[in-house]
Amino acid sequence: MVTSYHSTRNKGIQAGAREAVLTGIASDGGLFVRPDLGTEKADLDRILNQSYQENAAYILGLLLPDYTEEELKQAVAAAYTGTFADKAITPLKPVGDLHVLELFHGPTSAFKDVALTMLPQLMSIALQDTEDSAMILTATSGDTGKAALSGFRDVDRTGIAVFYPEGKVSQIQYRQMATQQGSNVKVFAVRGNFDDAQSAVKQLFLDEDLGQWAAGQNIRLSSANSINVGRLVPQVVYYFEAWKQLVNQGVIGRDDKVSFSVPTGNFGDVLAGYYAYRLGLPVKKFVVASNANNVLTEFITTGVYDRNRPFVKTISPSMDILISSNLERLLYYMTDGNTEQVAAWMQELAETGRYEVTPEVLERIRSLFEADYADDAATKETIADVYKEERYVLDPHSAIGYRAGLAKKDDTPMVVLATASPYKFAQDVMQALTGEELGEWDALHRLQELCQDPIPAGLAALENARILHEAVIGVPGMKEAVQGACSLVKNGETA
Ligand SMILES: *Cc1c(COP(=O)(O)O)cnc(C)c1O
Repeated sequence: MVTSYHSTRNKGIQAGAREAVLTGIASDGGLFVRPDLGTEKADLDRILNQSYQENAAYILGLLLPDYTEEELKQAVAAAYTGTFADKAITPLKPVGDLHVLELFHGPTSAFKDVALTMLPQLMSIALQDTEDSAMILTATSGDTGKAALSGFRDVDRTGIAVFYPEGKVSQIQYRQMATQQGSNVKVFAVRGNFDDAQSAVKQLFLDEDLGQWAAGQNIRLSSANSINVGRLVPQVVYYFEAWKQLVNQGVIGRDDKVSFSVPTGNFGDVLAGYYAYRLGLPVKKFVVASNANNVLTEFITTGVYDRNRPFVKTISPSMDILISSNLERLLYYMTDGNTEQVAAWMQELAETGRYEVTPEVLERIRSLFEADYADDAATKETIADVYKEERYVLDPHSAIGYRAGLAKKDDTPMVVLATASPYKFAQDVMQALTGEELGEWDALHRLQELCQDPIPAGLAALENARILHEAVIGVPGMKEAVQGACSLVKNGETA
């Protein structure tokens, strides 16, 4: 094993990439990071001349050194063959003064598909080193859940349990999860918000009693959230792909820089952009775009991270998050790997809900990251404006990225990450466009009359799909729910 990763909170807690993918989170609650990130740069000329799939295998190889080239090629082929509706996988389109990177052409119509078609492949390969199976525990603010269910459904030696906040996901998101088929899947609504569900899942990974109980059945508990490096690294690829398309479209030259505006919740997607930057992608800046839960806007402006504020339910539910887990990885890099400092801040966050970074660290962050936010009214205004002026329909999350990107744009071309299909949030999008309050199916069909793309097959099929998962539980019931779900773990060998 190459011990290429260690915990953000303790350099002594180490793992190879395969082990890090299998365990998801370090045993002290920290996240796995590579201390030597970007020592080896990506070859940009090579990237310009390769397909998405070739670039994915290449970049994953740079970040996951103990997977072989052959393994990664096969994983990429399995993840990206016949799964995305656009052959570019993540096409880049000019919209007004910005460039929109469409990340939502996968099976569940959100950007999470790019990583969650890949993670089961990486996990299956790593499981071959062991006698074990993996039980995937996933907290979701709406989109990860469905993408993970779709990715892990009926995968050998795995099972998956998804926890979403009851009543705090869109109608379509709810139906996508509640109708999920598969012999190894379980879906639970949890009373509370996403932060409650995510914190509880993190606690379950640290629960020794549960860990031992599962180990007794040769089951490991793992994560499909972006705390897992296997979730993060496939997202690095499309930042290079955006730059490649800009160069190939003649918008920029080979050595010109580009900026990115990223709608953000858990800080996973924008962190993947930072990884691309460390690997040598010519980036001017990242715009961290938030909704009314603007804890990151305040942090990047003042250096104070303070989650002690009301939780706002918005029309961009996948960003309704007050504890952005992956910021911990950025703090690690911005302190030059000062794990004691990161551990101290994370302890403060756990105990008081607040911490403040030093002026030096803040300055370093601000030299590369800017932040902005949009409330629901501003989000709807942007959806309406962009449609009126450009005949392009943005979903609420992407609209927040678009608005922030426009506000922060300078001479450098700005790429906005479009993280979900507008169809996924059809009711709110139609409300923004026409003022009509429609039911979810009426909204879907009316939206099709305005939209650039057809209704994705997975969403169209929901109208007649049967609800299979109706359980609503409290946070204290999650442990028992996991134990129950473990009995569903698919085991190819014994079946
Ligand atoms: C998950 C999600 C986000 C936020 O991504 P993070 O990696 O959590 O920052 C933004 N938009 C959509 C549509 C999402 O599903």
